Amino acid sequence: MDNCIFCKIAKGDIASFKIYEDDTLFAFLDINPVVDGHLLIIPKTHHENIFDTPDEVLEKISILSKKLAITLKEKLNAKAVNILNASGKEAQQSVFHLHFHIIPRFENDEKNLSFHGEKKEAKDLERVKEMLLS
Ligand code: AMP
Ligand code: ZN
Repeated sequence: MDNCIFCKIAKGDIASFKIYEDDTLFAFLDINPVVDGHLLIIPKTHHENIFDTPDEVLEKISILSKKLAITLKEKLNAKAVNILNASGKEAQQSVFHLHFHIIPRFENDEKNLSFHGEKKEAKDLERVKEMLLS
């Protein structure tokens, strides 16, 4: 992908604050961090998002996510971590090269990444379950 900023970062054609690299993956600091230590993990090969990324690559990202989460705890004294992926523009994906955000969390960091909605009745949940399983 000639015009993809994350392909260019993975190749070293655009500078980044690299934290980790191997044959498959590349990790670097997000330039607009939610908190200090906010990292992005990307595959070196171009995949738009989770829908077109091979399982083997996702497996490796999952393992590296854990490793880097531990690094954030050990080196930055993070207490917790959020691991986030946006796949598709409706999910607020803005760079269309797969990436996972690894966001360290600290006591009293006053960030609020809320995924809590409103409580649903059992019949509504049942209907959705039927749709998913049909
Ligand atoms: P998303 O909205 O999930 O697609 O996230 C894209 C992320 O990429 C944002 O958090 C941006 O701050 C980050 N980003 C964009 N360009 C760069 C760059 N050149 N170096 C580091 N992070 C970047
Ligand atoms: Zn790319």
